[in-house]
Amino acid sequence: MRYVDEYRGADLVHTLTEKLHALSNRPVRIMEVCGTHTMSIFKHGLRQMLPKNVQLISGPGCPVCVTPSGVIDAFVELAGRPEVIITTFGDMIRVPGTGNSLMQAKAAGADVNIVYSPMDSLTIAEQNPDKLVVFLSVGFETTTPTIAATILEADRRKIGNFCVFPANKTMPAPLKALMEDPKLQVDGLLCPGHVSIISGSEIYRFLVDDYGIACVVAGFEPTDILLSIIALVKQVQEDRPALENCYGRVVTAEGNVKARTIVDTVFTQVDSEWRGLGSIKSSGLTLREEYSSFDIIKRLDIQIAPSSEPKGCRCGDVLKGINQPPDCPIFGNRCTPGSPVGPCMVSSEGTCAAWYRYGDLN
Ligand code: SF4
Repeated sequence: MRYVDEYRGADLVHTLTEKLHALSNRPVRIMEVCGTHTMSIFKHGLRQMLPKNVQLISGPGCPVCVTPSGVIDAFVELAGRPEVIITTFGDMIRVPGTGNSLMQAKAAGADVNIVYSPMDSLTIAEQNPDKLVVFLSVGFETTTPTIAATILEADRRKIGNFCVFPANKTMPAPLKALMEDPKLQVDGLLCPGHVSIISGSEIYRFLVDDYGIACVVAGFEPTDILLSIIALVKQVQEDRPALENCYGRVVTAEGNVKARTIVDTVFTQVDSEWRGLGSIKSSGLTLREEYSSFDIIKRLDIQIAPSSEPKGCRCGDVLKGINQPPDCPIFGNRCTPGSPVGPCMVSSEGTCAAWYRYGDLN
């Protein structure tokens, strides 16, 4: 497949791996911020190709995983209301709250639908004028522009029985929070490629300037990731942390200004609660006053209960990069993809799911 195969070529992967081994001369700890990077690294067996002194640590870049249990409980409670139809991306449906998941609510009769685009929710709303259709708005910068465009379209078409449950989060505020956690020791960040397409690479500049952390924006194919790790190892070993963009075929310094304008039209920043990381200033989005009629939290005065983790669950510390999945006492026994206890075992971007599916390849 064009634009994919050339970034997966075995010869190039081996050449880059040899280069990395020849280069590496001291321990370097790198956090891959994005869950899609985590999955790609495991899926392509990259961990076992790295020099022993290059350590990869997974970070908080899985939007489903960082959604706190109190919000998931509110989703499930909402789904149980007879007048409500829920629409959601697929990963969220199996994440357990403190009680049930949306899948269990669906099994009990709730109307919960997986959609591939939030725009599909508008069709469902028009087909069900006597119901209230609620899209569970979870995601980072990558998905928020489409959700904002859906709200604008609902407004234009005057679809009054459509709402969103705003639970979107943004980078880079959680990275600042992580850098200020003394328990986390990292030398460099593999910065998320998808988020950067929208936000631009410059949002990470403060991590270099204020924290001396090496930052490289990376794509998702094996050669993208290896090239980015080489760039990070060089920076750390030469003690010259910098911001580099190794995903230049789609990421620019300023990002997608048009997409951000659409988001800014509909959403405004708020403090937000992250699983494991707690409340982080200006790290979430809510609807602006002009669009508040589409905000189900305001429309139904929904109260979100304080969050708590299931007994024994280490998702919070996994998301902070302090623990790895096998450190969780219930990893692979009580918590498996077939019977997940925490969100990191559910999501297609979840660290525990990646470790379980592809094993520890070190
Ligand atoms: Fe959470 Fe399950 Fe991972 Fe433990 S194994 S950290 S409970 S997802």
